[in-house]
Amino acid sequence: MPRSARALWQIDDCEVLISRRKRMKYLRISVHPPEGEVRVSAPWHASNREIESFIRERMSWVADQQRWCQSLPKPQKPEFVSGETVKLWGRDLPLVLEEGNRRRAQTQLLEESLVLQAPMESTVEQREKYLDRFFRKVLEEKALPLLDFWQAELGVHMQAWGIKKMRTRWGSCNASDARIWLNLELVHHPEECLRYVCLHELAHLIEANHSRRFWDIVERHMPNWKSAAAILKKH
Ligand SMILES: [Zn+2]
Repeated sequence: MPRSARALWQIDDCEVLISRRKRMKYLRISVHPPEGEVRVSAPWHASNREIESFIRERMSWVADQQRWCQSLPKPQKPEFVSGETVKLWGRDLPLVLEEGNRRRAQTQLLEESLVLQAPMESTVEQREKYLDRFFRKVLEEKALPLLDFWQAELGVHMQAWGIKKMRTRWGSCNASDARIWLNLELVHHPEECLRYVCLHELAHLIEANHSRRFWDIVERHMPNWKSAAAILKKH
């Protein structure tokens, strides 16, 4: 395995996020709520074998910690009201719900908070829909120049693109009709992730499968793609 700053390993049925750091002296392992995510920080020069045996020796401790995480009360489902936070491009923003016009809900980014103006009697589902409408617009504005950029870089041409909510994928590409879909959820993660997904899907117009040649193209155009992919893989 090549040495990279961040990587996601699978050890038995446990996913471990590995980050190598230049100034780190010792291996460190931690387990994080709410999902019981396992993270290992390692010195830059630690070998993969060394890291793996360090983790394996601590598997029962990890399992204990994960059980403890699972016993914590689960975060409540969002109701899209003031006091909650929403994620935009990887940052947590406080949500402010204001009484708004009956016919036209509005969402705006104001001084580091997201202000949703919605009718007092709006339901959770309606407020979610209003916010999605806003996220869709924001994603579209950010994705359009990126798609243009990568098309020019790769020398490819897509016919159409769109945004939708997808459960299992961050993007998709139908190479035969050159159509690309982006997952609306990308708006919650750092911009690097969107940049990577746009590149990934457009690269499929050159190489339909995840072949060696495909990853070479991705790597050549975005050498740090793995850190973006690792963030997305966690979700
Ligand atoms: Zn792909």
